[in-house]
Amino acid sequence: MTATRVLVLNSGSSSVKYQLLDMRDHSRLAVGLVERIGEDSSRRKHTHVVSGETREAEERIADHEAALKAMSEELARDGLGLDSPQLAAIGHRVVQGAGSFTEPTLIDDGVVAEIERLVPLAPLHNPAHLAGMRTALALRPDLPQVAVFDTAFHSTMPESAARYALDPAVADKYSIRRYGFHGTSHAYVSRVAAGLVGKAPEDANVIVLHLGNGASASAVRGGVCVDTSMGLTPLEGLVMGTRSGDLDPAVIFHLMRVGGMSVDEVDTLLNKKSGLLGLCGDNDMREIRRRVDEGDDRAKLAFDIYIHRLKKYIGAYYAVLGRVDAVVFTAGVGENASPVREAAVAGLEELGLAVDAELNAVRGDQPRLISPEGARVAVAVVPTDEELEIATQTYALATENS
Ligand code: ADP
Repeated sequence: MTATRVLVLNSGSSSVKYQLLDMRDHSRLAVGLVERIGEDSSRRKHTHVVSGETREAEERIADHEAALKAMSEELARDGLGLDSPQLAAIGHRVVQGAGSFTEPTLIDDGVVAEIERLVPLAPLHNPAHLAGMRTALALRPDLPQVAVFDTAFHSTMPESAARYALDPAVADKYSIRRYGFHGTSHAYVSRVAAGLVGKAPEDANVIVLHLGNGASASAVRGGVCVDTSMGLTPLEGLVMGTRSGDLDPAVIFHLMRVGGMSVDEVDTLLNKKSGLLGLCGDNDMREIRRRVDEGDDRAKLAFDIYIHRLKKYIGAYYAVLGRVDAVVFTAGVGENASPVREAAVAGLEELGLAVDAELNAVRGDQPRLISPEGARVAVAVVPTDEELEIATQTYALATENS
């Protein structure tokens, strides 16, 4: 029997998300989530997609090891256990691969040690990934397990885009450069968008706007990333749900010197209490739009700042690419919030950009064009699928090595 299933694991700091895919038709066999790991009120939810049965539980899950064991038991109950001969590989999402990992990589002791060495660059994420990896390796030491890095797709950025204007000796000593994140999504979405405009990825220039709670833009030339808005960490760039995105770095000195804040307080302020949440008290775009429609000024200002930044990045990446075939919206906000898409390209007709009001209003889970027929630059919505992309990359590497 050929093994055709891939388990995708996304181990976050307090949650584990997983999906089991069949690579013959890319269908999901099971999906699940364990959250609030380490708290008394941990929650888990498991859906056996094939039967449609969902099981939920609320009981303490102490750590990632316990979370993966709970996942493993749920899968086994559905006859999809980790010991199944049909399981070909496990793919692990890893946020930070820095300069060490520019491609999906088969996990061995050396890879684990290197991801550990990168912890200072991703102190929240990489330790959680490592906990997930170690448990999965203990459960199935014989199975190919692959790390797929959020930063990998951006590793092709030229030095002119990847470097900050810092003394290279200082920058290199501390591994300071622009790594970019959400790379798996940017890779997938830019490829699908090329197909949507009838081009091979090698021939298409695409601007991808990944607008979720975290948000990032990228400029992709011929399938290769040449710039992205997130930097050393996911804090740089667009206005996000709770992150400020770009600001004058001197704001930080000012908050510390004049505001008396500690490094940790500034870190928390900029990452967790800024962006849309900081501006208007809400980080969910649905709620913000509801408030805007009711005439709420704070929500309107937050929306306007969000759109202004987004538009600046569209313009910047248009200039970086020179010629653009498609501007693509993806992730929770990009896929669902038609007012965001409309406002982001409003007034850019001279650049060949426009949305058709009717097409923009259509909801759906399929990739689609929302620009008027015959538009010089396509505007599109492409639902992202990071799990499928991780599974595809994992399966390719695992089968190549089997
Ligand atoms: P992440 O993976 O970064 O947590 P998602 O890509 O799932 O985020 O996006 C989550 C965000 O998408 C929510 O915070 C919400 O603002 C937005 N969102 C989801 N559905 C809608 C909708 N129907 N209209 C507007 N925004 C939406």
